[in-house]
Parts: sequence; C-alpha cells; structure tokens
Amino acid sequence: MLKFYFGPMDCGKSTLALQMNHNHGRQGRRGLVLTKHDRSGGPKVTSRIGLGLEAIEVEDDLDLVRLVTGHDRIDYLICDEACFYTVEQIEQLADLVDEHGVDVYAFGLASDFRSVMFPAAQRLFELADEVCRLQVEVLCWCGRPGRLNARIVGGTMARTGEQVVIGDTDAAHVRYQVLCRRHHRSGRLGEGTTEPQPEAV
Ligand SMILES: [Zn+2]
Repeated sequence: MLKFYFGPMDCGKSTLALQMNHNHGRQGRRGLVLTKHDRSGGPKVTSRIGLGLEAIEVEDDLDLVRLVTGHDRIDYLICDEACFYTVEQIEQLADLVDEHGVDVYAFGLASDFRSVMFPAAQRLFELADEVCRLQVEVLCWCGRPGRLNARIVGGTMARTGEQVVIGDTDAAHVRYQVLCRRHHRSGRLGEGTTEPQPEAV
C-alpha cells in the first residue's frame, strides 16, 4: 500500500508521521523513517509540537530499494517531506510496495510557494493507492482554511524563484506563510506583516 498524506505547512504532517511510526512499532512491525530538509536541519523528523525521531536523510542519489533491501526485514516506510524527493525515488517507493511487500506512508506538501505542484508530489498523486488531504488545522490570517504555502522574501510574497528554498536559515529573510487560496492569489499577507493596502479583498 502506497499512501500519500498531503497538506500545507503546519497542518500536522510530521506529527502524524511520528504517531504512525509509533503505532506500527508497537505492533512489532519494523520500519524506517526517512526525511529530507526537516525543519531541524538534520536527519530527524521533528514536529511543531516537540516530538522528534532520528531519521535517514534522503539525498538525491539515495536508492530507496537498495536502502530497504539492505536491511534484514522492513515492513513499512515513513517518508516525511516526500515532496522534496526525486521523481525516481517515488518510483522506487512504488517498486518497494509492489515487489517487496513494503507499506509506504508518504507525507508532504503538494504544491510549492507558487501553488505549482512539486514533481515528486505529482508522481505520488499519480501512483499512490490512496491520497489523503490532511484536515487543515492551520488557518489563513483571515480565518479561512490555509491551503497554500507562500514564500515571503523581505516582507513581500514571492512569485518566482527556485522551487526549494529553506526558510529561516540565512540572512535572505525568507520565510513561509500559509494562506487561503484567495490571499495566495492576491498576495495580501494580513495585518502587521505587510504595508496596509487600501482595497478590501
Ligand atoms: Zn485568507
């Protein structure tokens, strides 16, 4: 079974990933936890609510089939931040399910700061047995459900740029904010985060 859970930042994806790993482990199943570009900056899955777990960092050239078959017995994989994996690695996840009987639970963003789908997320949509939108606990500043990630550079919303830029790591003043679709499209960031704008949106 290949399952993809997607949602915007802060919707609890990593927390669910950790919870799922815990539940499977308690039933005596053996798994691996994978991540890429976790917010901790290291090979760990960390969640906003303070849980954390050592994980394998998925470098671009890591062959996931070889990784798993190199272990004694692996029943399942927890793949956090799967949107940042390569498309080839998503194919490898499907191979693991079909050829090696591994259950794969992938978690990630669907779309980037432009609201364009990440290639790996797109491939997961195409291949997964099941795709689940995580119930959004995160709200836009206006109170609507937060659906899309905005990249804020120097206080304004970016529309172009590299697909993957990790926020809060350098002096580039890059951060991310979850917005509803309306405000992602208009670029309005709400009180206190940008210059006041006269028109009501
Ligand atoms: Zn909004």
